[in-house]
Amino acid sequence: MIDGHAHLNEIPDADGAVLRAKAAGIQAVIAVGMDVRSNLATLEIARRHPGVVYPAVGIHPWSIDSGRIEEEIAFVRENLPSCIALGEVGLDYGAKVKKKIQWSVFERLLALAAQMKKPAIIHSRYSYERTFAMAREAAVERAVFHWYSGPVEILKKILDAGYSVSATPALATSPQHRAAMELAPLDRILVETDAPVEYGGKASEPADLGLTIRELAGIKRKSTEEVAQVTEQNTRSLYAIL
Ligand SMILES: [Zn+2]
Repeated sequence: MIDGHAHLNEIPDADGAVLRAKAAGIQAVIAVGMDVRSNLATLEIARRHPGVVYPAVGIHPWSIDSGRIEEEIAFVRENLPSCIALGEVGLDYGAKVKKKIQWSVFERLLALAAQMKKPAIIHSRYSYERTFAMAREAAVERAVFHWYSGPVEILKKILDAGYSVSATPALATSPQHRAAMELAPLDRILVETDAPVEYGGKASEPADLGLTIRELAGIKRKSTEEVAQVTEQNTRSLYAIL
């Protein structure tokens, strides 16, 4: 089992969370960043857990600070070569940052991913059509539309383009997220916690990945063992983790 998306730097006891994940049978965690500060913290956590925590660097649409864009992008450009993916990046039309600025930052980051042949971990809340179109336009080869809960028509395009989606414990409560995971074939789904996001009023950590796997197994009418095994393989191949 691999947690395909966690904000380890936001967990107060990140090292303990990594140990608890390993004890729960989770072999690896993909740790994402959102800005220079969290990217740096994520890289440091990954350095302390080689072969277990794999870092990604990005600029989250919530974290765009229009006065620091060049500095933020320079950091990603310098550090992306040593990371397994670009992320977390994307668009969020529920965020306060102006759309034009979000589009510009996302476009420049996607160009880096395409140039460095890295997969992109994409946040697409309320912006599903545009995030997909921009990933295609940038000729990004590998991408995961994280926690996909958008329209099924756009999901079909995402799948046709060869991209993947990921599932979170929100499967238990979100009809939109469930509908997407019902449609997507199991071999295109990654599982994640998006820790420390709260589910049922409790902050999550990677050790809670079983919540996602159990829900997904119910949707796909398969055993949790099969879902764990297939999604781990999907994650390893998307991020090129041996
Ligand atoms: Zn996230």
